[in-house]
Amino acid sequence: MSGPDPETKMQFVFHLRSKGVTDAKVLAAMEEIDRGPFVRGIFAARAYEDMPLPIACGQTISQPSVVGIMTQALEVNPRDKVLEVGTGSGYQAAILSKLARRVYTVERHARLVREAQMVFQSMHLANITAMTVDGSFGLPEQAPFDRIIVTAAAEDPPGPLLAQLKIGGIMVVPVGQSDTVQTLIRVRRHETGFEYDEIRPVRFVPLLEGLGKDG
Ligand code: SAH
Repeated sequence: MSGPDPETKMQFVFHLRSKGVTDAKVLAAMEEIDRGPFVRGIFAARAYEDMPLPIACGQTISQPSVVGIMTQALEVNPRDKVLEVGTGSGYQAAILSKLARRVYTVERHARLVREAQMVFQSMHLANITAMTVDGSFGLPEQAPFDRIIVTAAAEDPPGPLLAQLKIGGIMVVPVGQSDTVQTLIRVRRHETGFEYDEIRPVRFVPLLEGLGKDG
């Protein structure tokens, strides 16, 4: 796995900065993790363009600048236990694995989980656990989490996920109707309740209930 040439990588990081990804640790993680292996097939050559690209099961790997903005908004600390809902290609989980102690990532399509696990293994990312489950209910057996990131759009932040967030924890989630522009929001859990702030407009595939029909 050779990765892109240094010039391509430099331009990638420069572009991320221009899009508002300024956190040095996030930029370092995104420089380290090659997006190529997460984008299989004919689109792999375009891995370093700032575009969402199609992956298996009719899903998409998010745009790198959006991955950067979301990761930055999550304010991950090295000791954190993080839950990601919507593994997709595994790219976002790989970035998180460089910043957190432990990453749990859940996905409703078993095939995407299998493919992501193979990439994690090849990159020696040993602190990621990927599972095929309906993430709308979170992952009660590993809760509570310091950080939760949802990479599919929900109409509202799902109640079970709010319940699985630690006091002092942060959740980043796109909310709104699918097929329209959604708003990326950050939820902070305080002892007395939840505080919400809007980050930017985004567009994600919908958070669906139940497991995918693939094998
Ligand atoms: N984070 C991914 C991109 C995710 S695309 C990456 O870095 O590539 C959104 C993913 O959420 C899709 O793969 C979709 O299948 C998944 N998804 C949708 N609803 C879900 C649910 N209820 N539970 C788990 N995953 C879900």
